[in-house]
Amino acid sequence: MTPLSNKSCLECGIAIKGRMDKKFCCDHCRSCYNNRSRADHSDCVRRINNILVKNRKILRELCSREKYRISTEILKLHGFDFEHFTSLKVKKNGQCCYYCYDHGYLAVDEDTLMLVSQPH
Ligand SMILES: [Zn+2]
Repeated sequence: MTPLSNKSCLECGIAIKGRMDKKFCCDHCRSCYNNRSRADHSDCVRRINNILVKNRKILRELCSREKYRISTEILKLHGFDFEHFTSLKVKKNGQCCYYCYDHGYLAVDEDTLMLVSQPH
Protein backbone atom coordinates (compact mmCIF):
# COMPACT_ATOMS: atom_id res chain seq x y z
CA MET A 1 0.00 0.00 0.00
CA THR A 2 1.23 3.51 -0.86
CA PRO A 3 1.49 5.71 2.20
CA LEU A 4 -0.89 8.63 1.91
CA SER A 5 -0.09 12.05 3.25
CA ASN A 6 -1.66 12.67 6.64
CA LYS A 7 -0.71 16.35 6.56
CA SER A 8 -3.22 19.14 6.62
CA CYS A 9 -3.45 22.28 4.52
CA LEU A 10 -1.32 25.08 6.01
CA GLU A 11 -4.07 27.57 5.24
CA CYS A 12 -7.42 25.96 6.04
CA GLY A 13 -6.30 22.92 8.00
CA ILE A 14 -8.24 20.26 6.08
CA ALA A 15 -6.48 16.97 5.48
CA ILE A 16 -4.53 16.79 2.24
CA LYS A 17 -4.82 13.69 0.14
CA GLY A 18 -2.30 12.85 -2.49
CA ARG A 19 1.40 13.58 -2.84
CA MET A 20 3.49 13.74 0.33
CA ASP A 21 5.03 17.09 -0.57
CA LYS A 22 1.76 18.97 -0.89
CA LYS A 23 1.31 21.78 1.63
CA PHE A 24 -2.02 23.17 0.50
CA CYS A 25 -5.34 21.63 -0.47
CA CYS A 26 -5.85 23.99 -3.41
CA ASP A 27 -4.36 26.95 -5.28
CA HIS A 28 -6.63 29.36 -3.46
CA CYS A 29 -5.22 28.31 -0.08
CA ARG A 30 -1.68 28.49 -1.43
CA SER A 31 -2.09 32.07 -2.64
CA CYS A 32 -3.87 33.20 0.56
CA TYR A 33 -1.07 31.79 2.66
CA ASN A 34 1.70 33.27 0.51
CA ASN A 35 0.05 36.69 0.38
CA ARG A 36 -0.28 36.74 4.13
CA SER A 37 3.34 35.85 4.79
CA ARG A 38 4.40 38.65 2.43
CA ALA A 39 2.23 41.06 4.42
CA ASP A 40 3.74 39.84 7.70
CA HIS A 41 7.18 40.48 6.31
CA SER A 42 6.39 44.04 5.29
CA ASP A 43 4.78 44.69 8.70
CA CYS A 44 8.08 43.78 10.31
CA VAL A 45 10.03 46.04 7.93
CA ARG A 46 7.56 48.85 8.47
CA ARG A 47 7.74 48.52 12.25
CA ILE A 48 11.54 48.75 12.31
CA ASN A 49 11.59 51.59 9.75
CA ASN A 50 9.19 53.53 11.98
CA ILE A 51 11.53 53.08 14.93
CA LEU A 52 14.53 54.25 12.89
CA VAL A 53 12.72 57.28 11.51
CA LYS A 54 11.50 58.20 14.98
CA ASN A 55 15.02 57.80 16.39
CA ARG A 56 16.41 60.06 13.69
CA LYS A 57 13.71 62.66 14.31
CA ILE A 58 14.53 62.73 18.03
CA LEU A 59 18.25 63.11 17.35
CA ARG A 60 17.69 65.78 14.71
CA GLU A 61 15.38 67.83 16.94
CA LEU A 62 17.74 67.74 19.89
CA CYS A 63 20.66 68.49 17.62
CA SER A 64 18.95 71.53 16.09
CA ARG A 65 18.37 72.92 19.57
CA GLU A 66 22.16 72.89 19.93
CA LYS A 67 22.02 70.34 22.68
CA TYR A 68 25.06 68.43 21.63
CA ARG A 69 25.65 66.90 25.01
CA ILE A 70 22.58 65.36 26.51
CA SER A 71 21.78 62.81 29.15
CA THR A 72 20.86 59.28 28.12
CA GLU A 73 17.70 59.76 30.18
CA ILE A 74 16.44 62.54 27.89
CA LEU A 75 16.66 60.32 24.83
CA LYS A 76 14.77 57.62 26.74
CA LEU A 77 12.09 60.14 27.75
CA HIS A 78 11.61 61.05 24.09
CA GLY A 79 11.04 57.38 23.33
CA PHE A 80 14.38 56.73 21.68
CA ASP A 81 15.01 53.05 20.96
CA PHE A 82 18.68 52.27 21.62
CA GLU A 83 18.44 48.82 20.07
CA HIS A 84 17.89 50.10 16.54
CA PHE A 85 20.33 52.06 14.40
CA THR A 86 21.42 52.02 10.77
CA SER A 87 25.19 52.16 11.05
CA LEU A 88 28.00 52.00 13.53
CA LYS A 89 31.27 53.90 13.17
CA VAL A 90 34.20 53.24 15.46
CA LYS A 91 36.47 56.22 15.91
CA LYS A 92 40.25 55.97 16.23
CA ASN A 93 40.01 56.37 20.00
CA GLY A 94 37.63 53.38 20.15
CA GLN A 95 34.46 55.39 20.71
CA CYS A 96 31.41 54.07 18.87
CA CYS A 97 29.05 56.37 16.98
CA TYR A 98 25.58 54.90 16.51
CA TYR A 99 23.80 56.45 13.55
CA CYS A 100 20.17 56.51 12.54
CA TYR A 101 20.70 57.58 8.94
CA ASP A 102 22.62 60.88 9.10
CA HIS A 103 22.16 61.62 12.81
CA GLY A 104 23.74 59.73 15.63
CA TYR A 105 25.24 59.78 19.07
CA LEU A 106 28.24 58.54 20.94
CA ALA A 107 28.50 57.73 24.61
CA VAL A 108 30.66 60.17 26.59
CA ASP A 109 30.07 58.27 29.81
CA GLU A 110 27.32 56.08 31.23
CA ASP A 111 24.81 58.92 31.51
CA THR A 112 25.94 61.38 28.87
CA LEU A 113 25.72 61.24 25.11
CA MET A 114 27.16 63.49 22.47
CA LEU A 115 25.02 64.09 19.39
CA VAL A 116 26.78 63.81 16.07
CA SER A 117 25.67 64.21 12.49
CA GLN A 118 27.13 63.21 9.17
CA PRO A 119 27.57 65.69 6.35
CA HIS A 120 25.08 64.99 3.55
ZN1 LIG B 1 -6.82 24.59 2.16
